[in-house]
Amino acid sequence: MRILVVEDEKKVARFIQQGLEEEHYSVDVVHDGQQGLTMAESEKYDAIVLDVMLPTKDGIAFTRELRALKKSTPILMLTAKTSTEEKVAGLDSGADDYLTKPFAFAELLARLRSLLRRGAQEKTTVLSLGDLVLDTVSHKARRADRVIELTAKEYALLEFFLRNKDRVLSRTIIAEHIWDYHFDTGTNLIDVYINHLRNKVDTGFEKKLIHTVRGVGYVMKED
Ligand code: CA
Repeated sequence: MRILVVEDEKKVARFIQQGLEEEHYSVDVVHDGQQGLTMAESEKYDAIVLDVMLPTKDGIAFTRELRALKKSTPILMLTAKTSTEEKVAGLDSGADDYLTKPFAFAELLARLRSLLRRGAQEKTTVLSLGDLVLDTVSHKARRADRVIELTAKEYALLEFFLRNKDRVLSRTIIAEHIWDYHFDTGTNLIDVYINHLRNKVDTGFEKKLIHTVRGVGYVMKED
């Protein structure tokens, strides 16, 4: 899952980025509203963490403009402590949820997960396909009775596949959601990671879950 963080306070931005990366999200950070909007328009984010008070364009105008462009990327807005007006304006502009500063990082994570579930129309924190189960809170994966140890990128890939099961995913789409802005699409890194993941998920099982669609990309499905 790929997240855009728009926050002009560099310390706060770095804190959010580090925390999200530890949770295996791919994160892009920008420090002003206009640049953030440009990124949100051109890149494929699964959610946006958006500060309200920003240089060049505030969070309210940002959200209004993004929604006017028919972009429905979930937005978690960071608002100042005391301002009810700000919260109301934020939600009315089209934000999906807000969090009051200062906040506990665990709450930011929980709210983000909730937004990502809403986007995927899922009501559970556990994703599954056949006998494969992935817990998106603990990041633990299991197939039948075998525990699968995953690296951060493998986890991110598996989560993305499971949120899009039965859908053929091109390398470009995978790169856009799993890697950040600096990813070099000219490499075969995605295939390398998918092979690692496939070894862990499918090796030793008769029924394969990760399938190559020649010339297109990959799909995760039961048969
Ligand atoms: Ca600010």
